Amino acid sequence: MKAELIAVGTEILLGEITDTNTPFIARELANLGIETYFQSTVGDNPERLQATIEIAAKRSDLVILSGGLGPTKDDLTKQTVAKYVHEELVIDPKAMAKIERYYAETNRTMTANNRIQAMYFKDSRALTNRTGFAVGIFYQQAQGPDFLLLPGPPSEFEPMVSEQVVPLLQRTYFNDQLLRSRVLRFFGIGESQLTTDLSALIVNQTNPTVAPYAKTNEVTLRLTAKAANEMEAQRLLDGLEAQIQKIAGAYFYGYGEDNSLAKVVTRKLQERKLTISTIEGYTAGLLAADLSNARPDDTILSGGQVVTKLTSTPQKNLTSKEETIALAKQIQTKTRSDWAIAIALPTVENTTTGEKIGHVWLALSDRQQQVTTQLVTFSTIRSFTKQRLVMDALSLIN
Ligand code: ATP
Ligand code: MG
Repeated sequence: MKAELIAVGTEILLGEITDTNTPFIARELANLGIETYFQSTVGDNPERLQATIEIAAKRSDLVILSGGLGPTKDDLTKQTVAKYVHEELVIDPKAMAKIERYYAETNRTMTANNRIQAMYFKDSRALTNRTGFAVGIFYQQAQGPDFLLLPGPPSEFEPMVSEQVVPLLQRTYFNDQLLRSRVLRFFGIGESQLTTDLSALIVNQTNPTVAPYAKTNEVTLRLTAKAANEMEAQRLLDGLEAQIQKIAGAYFYGYGEDNSLAKVVTRKLQERKLTISTIEGYTAGLLAADLSNARPDDTILSGGQVVTKLTSTPQKNLTSKEETIALAKQIQTKTRSDWAIAIALPTVENTTTGEKIGHVWLALSDRQQQVTTQLVTFSTIRSFTKQRLVMDALSLIN
C-alpha cells in the first residue's frame, strides 16, 4: 500500500503557514503500516492541482489531499478531483442541514457557494466534520487509486483523521487483521544513537514495524504488529521488544503514549511509600513542578526550595559537589522527607573556541543519608537545558 500526500494551499507555498497536516497524517499512516512514498504541496490553482493529481494517481494506491474543501472560490479540491475521476458531486443532507442550521441560528443568509461544503462524490463515502462544515471524502474506484479528501484547518483535519480516517483505512485495507501498538520510552540516549544501535532491527522489520519519535529530551519507539488475533499480536510485540531491550534496555524507562519519566518516578516512590523533597538552583522549581504535576493528588512531595545563591558565600554561585550534597541533606532534614534531591547552580566555563560549557551537580540523599551524585555537562546554554536537567534528576531518583 503506497500512499501519497498532497497539501493544497497557496499560503503554504508562500511560507505564510506551515503544513502540519502532512506530518500528522504521515505518522498515522506509518502506524497503520501504510507507506508514504511522496508528499507535495500545490497552490490553489486548478490546473496545477490537476497536474499534481495526475502524477500521484500514476504512482500511488492512495492519494490524500488536504485543504481547499471550503466555500470560497479558491477552494477547488473537490471540484478538481471530481472532474479527474468523472464523478458527480451530490449533497450530503445531514451536512447540509448542519450548515443551514448554523446560518439560521446566527441570523445570517447562506450563500449558494456554502453548499459545496456539504457535497461529496456520488459513489464515495462522506466523512462527517465534527468541528467544521466541509465533509471529507473517501473514494474508491475499480481502476486507479483511492482518494481521500480532507479539510485544511488542523482543528478539523486532525480529529477527522484520528476519529474516522484511521479506523476507515484499517477496515478497508487490513480488514482481516488486527493492529496493535506498543510505545517504549527511552531517556539518556539521543534519537540518532538509538536508531543507529537499532538500525538492523528497524531496517529489516516489516511486521512488527518500529517507528522512532524524538521528543524533547527523550525518544520513543512505537512498535506496531499486524496479526490475526490478540495473542499473536502480543507475541510479535514481545519478540521485538525483547530484541530492543537487549540492545537499549539501559535507557528504557517505561511504556505508553501519555507516560513520562516524572510519572514513572512518582509512581515508584508512592509504591514504596517514600516521600521526597527538592532543592533547586539552576532549574528554579521545575523539578518540583514536574513531580507535583505527575501526581496532582500526591503525597510524595514533602517540600521544595529554590536557591539562587549560597548563603554562606553570597557572591558565589553554588557549584561544588560538597555544597550540593549539603543542600540535599539540609532540605531533607528541614522537611523530614525520606529522600531529597538537590540541583545545583551551574558553573560556566569558556572553552578555547570561546564556546560556553556548563556543569551542574545533582545529589540524591536517601533514607540513610547515603548520597548519589552526578555531574551533568551541557555544551551550550539553551532553553531545553533546564528541562534536560530535570530529566537527569528524575533519572537519578528512578
Ligand atoms: P476552509 O473551510 O476553512 O476554507 P479548507 O478545507 O478550504 O477550509 P483551506 O482553505 O485550504 O482549507 O485552508 C484553511 C486554513 O486551514 C488555512 O488558512 C490554514 O490556516 C489551515 N490549513 C490549511 N492547510 C493546512 C495544512 N496543510 N497545515 C496546516 N494548516 C493548514
Ligand atoms: Mg478554504
